[in-house]
Amino acid sequence: MNKLILTAGGLLPLAALVAKESKGATNQPNLIVIMCDDLGYSDVGFNGCQDIPTPNIDRIANEGVKFTSGYSAYAVSGPSRAGFMTGRYGQRFGFERNPQYKPTDENMGLPQTEGTMAESLKAVGYTTGIIGKWHLGATKNLHPLNRGFDEFFGHLGGGHRYFPEEFTCPDSYTIENEADSYRSWIMRDHEALSPDKTPGYLTDEFSDEALAFVERHKDEPFFLYLAYNAPHTPLQATEKYLSRFPNVKGKRKTYAAMVSAVDEGVGNLLNQLDELGLAENTIVFFMSDNGGPETKNFSNNGDLRDSKGSYFEGGFRVPFAMRYPAKVSPAVYDSPVSSLDVFATIQDITDSPVRNQLDGTNLLPYLRGEKKGLPHEYIYLRQFDKGGYAIRGEEYKLIYQKPTDKDKEMTHLYDMNNDISEKNNLSKTKTKQVKEMRKELDNWEDGLIEPIFDGLLMIWEKNAKKAK
Ligand code: CA
Repeated sequence: MNKLILTAGGLLPLAALVAKESKGATNQPNLIVIMCDDLGYSDVGFNGCQDIPTPNIDRIANEGVKFTSGYSAYAVSGPSRAGFMTGRYGQRFGFERNPQYKPTDENMGLPQTEGTMAESLKAVGYTTGIIGKWHLGATKNLHPLNRGFDEFFGHLGGGHRYFPEEFTCPDSYTIENEADSYRSWIMRDHEALSPDKTPGYLTDEFSDEALAFVERHKDEPFFLYLAYNAPHTPLQATEKYLSRFPNVKGKRKTYAAMVSAVDEGVGNLLNQLDELGLAENTIVFFMSDNGGPETKNFSNNGDLRDSKGSYFEGGFRVPFAMRYPAKVSPAVYDSPVSSLDVFATIQDITDSPVRNQLDGTNLLPYLRGEKKGLPHEYIYLRQFDKGGYAIRGEEYKLIYQKPTDKDKEMTHLYDMNNDISEKNNLSKTKTKQVKEMRKELDNWEDGLIEPIFDGLLMIWEKNAKKAK
């Protein structure tokens, strides 16, 4: 298959190969977003993974666009998902920490002032479903069915155990701590299902539900958010997947099995789209919600510096691919894009209504060579509790850390075209770039507010202090 190389300046000479609109194209394409949890940048074949084959996930990148500089909206899960779901930086509305699991606290989740992608698409006739992890609030009012989704099959919290015999907490609304939220019964819409009704390995359950959702809604435009909690800890896998990795040692073996389970589910879903004749007119995105926490789940961010939670690349540059055969030819795209762009893309295609201004960009005109330049001049990250910032431009990335009790003020500037591992700090020599990008950060921060709820980390820190 011919590969186009797309760059900031537009298309290289192969531009004539850009897809013509085929008969599958409509102004209401289906949208499937497959989001993994804590998957490392280099844990997919299309980013060079050697020890975990992901042929099905790779199909999305190979038959569509592989984004080498795709960023999640934040470096940890909750705010990343809040950004993705609203198409807006979570820092604009105070969602800047991982929420605690609090079924009684309406403030601990996605504020009701924010519109969601599901709500927007529902308004133009889409059927909307979420399968898997929610993590945008555990109260009844913050439940997916009250935020624009027609269907829900999954769990409300930030993670979950994988074997049904460990689902020991029936009522998600009476759970009082994070650990128990990992043991909740799986919910279908508002109903908690006893574990005998979800007897499979959780990743398989989610994959099967995705097929059932598409089968139910194949004749109408749909949006499916397939939010696997894998490969987030706990590291748990079945023999079926473990046996695929006789040569992978230690805990990485379990991690590999978990990723392989996701890959199998993705394969079944793509095959189903083919069989139903839906592939042409379905946009499929694949991404991780943040960088791999390499020391926790044995993920691998490859050459990227640092891991989940960091403002270095390992924190929020993620595996990122998109397929839309009716309109986009296979390509590799190197300029920065964001998970915020999913909402902006589908919103622009469908002209669906929004409640607040989106921060993302419709990627299609760039991928089709109809628009020159960059989808984003800059991509931003603020981590309020760390006093840390990152701003990624086409060429340079600036990291700025305010002085703290422990550390001095720090400024880093990296040449992203030649220093993907962020080793060579240019801030002392490229002072003009530093000044410009600091100013851009300041301008962006003018539109932000402080976090509106105490995060999970703060509770853990309090408990750790008590224990001492
Ligand atoms: Ca995550």
